[in-house]
Amino acid sequence: MVGEGVVEALQSEVRGEDRVVVRGWGKPQWTLAGERAVGGEKGKREGYEYDQRLHGPLMWFIKLRLPSLKFRGSEIIELQKFRPARVDDIARVHERAYVSGLEKAMVQASDQGLIFIEGSGPTYATSTTFQESLLAAGAGLSLVDAVVVASKVREDPPVGFALVRPPGHHAVPTGPMGFCVFGNVAIAARYAQRAHGLKRVFIVDFDVHHGNGTNDAFYDDPDIFFLSTHQVRHSVILSISSILCLPKDGSYPGTGKIYQIGNGDGEGSTLNLPLPGGSGDRAMRSVFDEVIVPCAQRFKPDIILVSAGYDAHVLDPLASLQFTTGTYYMLASNIKQLAKDLCGGRCVFFLEGGYNLTSLSHSVADSFRAFLGEPSLASEFDNPALLYEEPSKKVKEAIQKVKHIHSL
Ligand SMILES: [Zn+2]
Repeated sequence: MVGEGVVEALQSEVRGEDRVVVRGWGKPQWTLAGERAVGGEKGKREGYEYDQRLHGPLMWFIKLRLPSLKFRGSEIIELQKFRPARVDDIARVHERAYVSGLEKAMVQASDQGLIFIEGSGPTYATSTTFQESLLAAGAGLSLVDAVVVASKVREDPPVGFALVRPPGHHAVPTGPMGFCVFGNVAIAARYAQRAHGLKRVFIVDFDVHHGNGTNDAFYDDPDIFFLSTHQVRHSVILSISSILCLPKDGSYPGTGKIYQIGNGDGEGSTLNLPLPGGSGDRAMRSVFDEVIVPCAQRFKPDIILVSAGYDAHVLDPLASLQFTTGTYYMLASNIKQLAKDLCGGRCVFFLEGGYNLTSLSHSVADSFRAFLGEPSLASEFDNPALLYEEPSKKVKEAIQKVKHIHSL
């Protein structure tokens, strides 16, 4: 679980104070309305999001999991200084009215301490959210610069990994959504095209939730392929639980149906693969071999970007898939190899979800081991006793269906 202390801190900030609700999602304009704050369940839910107070512990945990880091400093380079994204970069994905509305709302946030952004899923902002979100997006742009430059002088350039908050893949062109403010991966995709002439961008999103923001940003675009695996919406009961924001239903926000494949010129360049609850390592290995690889090979990308969410882990509190630390090692290793085979090794990962600090940090650290070609330490962390039988038949049916739809 996310540190309870942080959840309490957030709740105490809210409790008994006026708050501002920013009604922005789905609308081009922003309006502000005062509302009496309440604690309780909503406060807990909002605690799942990482802000800067959690970013520090998260980084500390990840570095703790990488004891070899200090011995291999020349192989893992931490970008100490990078520029925030410019508003023009953001505006290639988001409407300017949203961006300027958020910037203006910071004054209100400064007065109120915490602003709740109303939309589909809880997202909050503090007085620094606008700048922090520009910085998060900017990290991705700097990493694109870095791997592109490295790919010109090395056959095997380093993989970039933007360990940033807020995450981005739910943010839609008109506003924030589901803990996400700006679409970091989408903004980087447009930047890679414009700044580096990398026309064809392949985006893999293995977060347990559908990357609806990225999906929407490129739904008509034939040059950006968006491939998302996520937990399927099972039933009426689970649909209701999603609306109520109850845990364990990874089907939020309910988009990403298998037949949603893009539109117009972009038809066929969006691939959504909902996976049944309980899908785990075996399922994802099949998905990688049978769907991700042939899709990427056919698309012939110039760069691969990854929305790396770690909330499909069996220990994650917000969903019910069964990925393990070893699954994430496999994904990191295989995607790096795919980038090497198809696009000069140009590849940048972006941190999306992940709400169990322990499994998240172990899995991110093991992803770094995969990038470095070091052996996985997953067996030291993964507990097979926690796993149950995967729904292999349903997984196979889903894979066959998506292969049929996309002629793979
Ligand atoms: Zn997620």
